[in-house]
Amino acid sequence: MVLLAPETLLGRLQGRAGGEEALAHVRTQPPRPAQTASFPAWTDPAVLDACVRTGVRNLWSHQREAADLAHDGHHVVIATGTASGKSLAYLLPTLTAAEQTRGERGQRGATTLYLAPTKALAHDQASRLLGLGLPDLRVATHDGDSSSEERSWARDHAEFLLTNPDMLHFSLLPQHERWHSFFARLHYVVVDELHHYRGVFGAHVAHVLRRLRRICAAHGSTPTFLLASATAADPAHSAALLTGLEVIPVTDDGAPRGPRTIALWEPPVVSHSGEHGAPVRRPVTAETADLLTELVLDGARTLAFTRSRHGAEVVALTAQRLAREVDPTLPDSIAAYRGGYLPEDRRAIESNLRSGALRALAATNALELGIDISGLDAVLVAGFPGTRAALWQQFGRAGRGQEPSLGVFVARDDPLDSHLVHHPEMLLGQPVEATVFDPANPYVLGPHLCAAAAEIPLTEDGPLGVDLFGPGARGAVDALTAAGLLRRRPRGWFWTDRRRAADLADLRSTGGAPVTLVEDLSGRVIGTVDRGSAPASVHPGAVHLHQGQTWLVDDLDLETGVASLTRNEVDYSTSARDVTDIEIVTTAEKGALGRGMLHSGTVRVSTQVIAYLKRRRTTGEVLGTFPLDMPRQTLETQAVWWTLPDEAWSGLDLADPGGAAHAAEHASIGLLPLFATCDRWDIGGVSTQLHPDTGLLTVFVHDGHPGGAGFSRRGYECADEWLRATRDLIRSCPCESGCPSCVQSPKCGNGNHPLDKPGAVALLDLLSSGG
Ligand SMILES: [Zn+2]
Ligand SMILES: [Zn+2]
Repeated sequence: MVLLAPETLLGRLQGRAGGEEALAHVRTQPPRPAQTASFPAWTDPAVLDACVRTGVRNLWSHQREAADLAHDGHHVVIATGTASGKSLAYLLPTLTAAEQTRGERGQRGATTLYLAPTKALAHDQASRLLGLGLPDLRVATHDGDSSSEERSWARDHAEFLLTNPDMLHFSLLPQHERWHSFFARLHYVVVDELHHYRGVFGAHVAHVLRRLRRICAAHGSTPTFLLASATAADPAHSAALLTGLEVIPVTDDGAPRGPRTIALWEPPVVSHSGEHGAPVRRPVTAETADLLTELVLDGARTLAFTRSRHGAEVVALTAQRLAREVDPTLPDSIAAYRGGYLPEDRRAIESNLRSGALRALAATNALELGIDISGLDAVLVAGFPGTRAALWQQFGRAGRGQEPSLGVFVARDDPLDSHLVHHPEMLLGQPVEATVFDPANPYVLGPHLCAAAAEIPLTEDGPLGVDLFGPGARGAVDALTAAGLLRRRPRGWFWTDRRRAADLADLRSTGGAPVTLVEDLSGRVIGTVDRGSAPASVHPGAVHLHQGQTWLVDDLDLETGVASLTRNEVDYSTSARDVTDIEIVTTAEKGALGRGMLHSGTVRVSTQVIAYLKRRRTTGEVLGTFPLDMPRQTLETQAVWWTLPDEAWSGLDLADPGGAAHAAEHASIGLLPLFATCDRWDIGGVSTQLHPDTGLLTVFVHDGHPGGAGFSRRGYECADEWLRATRDLIRSCPCESGCPSCVQSPKCGNGNHPLDKPGAVALLDLLSSGG
């Protein structure tokens, strides 16, 4: 089968019913020529041999640049496109160091610590490293699955150790004395997939790396940091924030790329059966399945990215059904990839895609972390993946060498996606965003100071000093001392508690132990949900979707942290109703914004789930409201808020000022992810016509994590652009009185009522600098 050119493939998609209007934008990116470089003269001969043997004869210019910098002892971050060979850039200096410092009788050489955000990725890197066939190199992975023999071998012999930040935090750093031989020889620290360290997780990892630097100082080593990231804005800043060091960026991508056609696609409106009769667009999964089938029939090897595992399965199953109608053998060439597969299954999928036995794969983002697929003909992205960086990473899976490729972004029915398809310059014309996280979050900082003191007493200054943890650290240490957690002695601050200090911080947690979901009859654990969201998502009577299965919650015990569920294919969904209050604790900053004022600071949010609604799944018809008695939950966090004085809006003749503020709040929450690398579920909001603390019409957008994650702070910094985009989004949405693409929110605790769409535009107009 001859592969059609991207424009022809796109023409076929457009030829489908409704395709003409669905195609909102097309552009073609010019090809990028290759920039090659030779191997550095310092490359160890064994390493050079291994590269040549595995087919690498030249380097791309960015690989050479980063490798040289690291070899010279500069901390470096390499931020280039998907499949641009970032790993070779860090392998050259690290493996050369190991080979050239190994003792004559094979004594352990210089060591490298490699950190990946997941276990699967560390294992994949380890198998690639072993694939190089360096006979003397000692490679080990270290994670929750390693046996105690493997752990002690790694500790005493490994030269290249692959692990994740969690293991560093819970195991390596607290036991640093036993790891002396490894830390004393540590030449390099490789931090892969830097762009995953964002939000609260990013803040945690920043402190884990500072603790690592202290341990190295104590054991007499000063390792060079090598960080690898997807294309990102200001990677040097993110890398410096994460490590606390000055880091040189390498961003000029020397790998070649063919011309790339990018299309933005908005599924058509199919009915008016949404909340309050709102128009609803065709679901992104159904639309993506159609496009995937079309591309497979045209012979294009295609990858479809979805936001959830369930979505990947629906897309694959639907595409298989559609393809069967044309050719009964085709369904076998379409599969779903959900993550959590064994390495051999992943390798089989990779090679089937390469050989063409598999033509289409529907996958979650999990693919980003553990499967190596590139060189496809087309990529479909079902729903904005959260950041432009991730979007480009997904598009980057298409294109072999200089061959042309196609990337299609299919919009979901929400404010962010609908804004993006109609503002292609926001999606395609801007540099990708910087990762946002805030190491100063006291809820994150405190536990790491305790862990650091338990590892080696904290001194006033110097390489073991408290300053390493940032300007707020000294005050935090005093508070911990006053609380009796640390004790001040002449040699510094000590941890004297009997508990393990590292247990105070869980890197992946978002506040409190998660709630475990348990099957009622068997006692089998089926998953977990965040404690903070449990009252709204797994209250008694809630319908909970888990990996495509429907469960009914029988009971929720917040004290023991257990929800019991039963499998039940009910034909309705549930949504919680809550009452939320917000209190201003401190205002850190404020400034004028149009005719209003913008503020940033600390707030206390208290939420109580009071009832839930049952809704028929097919039509959305409300079947009833049921009261609930759930405990009130409070969250102290960071927020950005704006106020408008009465005289500014009283003349506007708004139909419903509270509904206008509420609509503006929803849409602005929908768009903040565009500016702050967060998900709309990471943030919340409260709006009111009259807030007791301000005495004015006020709209708050707050972080969803205790102490804040930096997202609302970012909203404060770019408020002008953010709120203007929000206004434009609402104004240009063709619906009459609000829909999921503009002012309706799937997480509204008030059932999307009241909402005043034109009123929201009028309020946001007052905030734009033009007046
Ligand atoms: Zn709308
Ligand atoms: Zn709401």
